[in-house]
Amino acid sequence: MRMMVLLLFLLISAPVWAKPGDGLILMGPPGSGKGTQSGFLQERYHLKAISPGDLLRAEVQAGSSLGQQAQNYMKSGQLVPDQLILQLVAGQLDQLKPGQGFLLDGFPRTKTQAEKLDHLLLQRHLSVVAVLLFEIEDQVLVERLSGRRICPNCQRSYHVNDNPPQRPGLCDSDSAMLVQRSDDQPQVISKRLEAYHQSTVPVAGYYQERGLVQTLQADQSIEQLKSEIVGLLDSVLQAKIVP
Ligand code: AMP
Repeated sequence: MRMMVLLLFLLISAPVWAKPGDGLILMGPPGSGKGTQSGFLQERYHLKAISPGDLLRAEVQAGSSLGQQAQNYMKSGQLVPDQLILQLVAGQLDQLKPGQGFLLDGFPRTKTQAEKLDHLLLQRHLSVVAVLLFEIEDQVLVERLSGRRICPNCQRSYHVNDNPPQRPGLCDSDSAMLVQRSDDQPQVISKRLEAYHQSTVPVAGYYQERGLVQTLQADQSIEQLKSEIVGLLDSVLQAKIVP
C-alpha cells in the first residue's frame, strides 16, 4: 500500500517526458528569453539542447573552418546559410542517447530549415511534440539585448538591470568575466530582428498548421514565464501519454 502511494506521488510530482525521441522547438526573436528557458527545460526534462547559435559561437572561438565560414554572417546579424546549419544540427541529432528527448533552441529559422528538419527527424524516428513561440515587442528586445551580458565559459545569460549577477561583471556559476556579444550592438540588433520577421515568422505558420504551436507572452519575469511553460508543457505531455 505504502509503495502504491509513493508511486502515485512520484507519477504526479515528477516531470514526465512524452515519449522517447520526442522533442521541443523554442522559437522567438533574439532576446526573447529562449536561451534562459532552454537551460531550465533541459534540466527538468533531461533533454539534449541543440542551439546552433551556441554551437556556431564555439566554432568561431575554436577558429574552425565552419566558424570562419559563419562568422561574417553572425557579426552582421544575418542568418548563416541553411546548408551549414543543417549539417550542424544533423550531427547533434546523431549524438542523442537512445530514447533521449531533444530541444531545438533557435532552429529552424527558415522555411527550408523546417522542411529539411522534417526529413532529418523522420530518418531518425524522432518527432516534435510542441513548438513554444515566444512573443514580444521589438522595442523591449532592443533594450534587453543591449543590456545582455554572457558568460563566455558556460553561456549563462544576465542583464545589467533586470537579471544582474551577484557580483558585478562576474558569472554566478564559474566567476568568469562576463562579456557583451558583438552582435548585441544596436545596429546588428536591428538586422537580427529584421531577419527574424522576414525569415522566421513564416516558420511559425508552418507549425501552426499542424497544431503544434503554444504561444507565450515573453514580456514577463523569468520565473513567471518558467511556470507558464511548465503548466503548458505538462498538459501537452500528459495528453500525449494518456492512451
Ligand atoms: P542566436 O544565438 O540564436 O541569436 O544566434 C546567433 C547568430 O547565429 C544568428 O544571428 C545567426 O547569424 C546564427 N544562427 C543561429 N541559428 C541559426 C539558424 N537556425 N539559421 C541561420 N543562422 C543561425
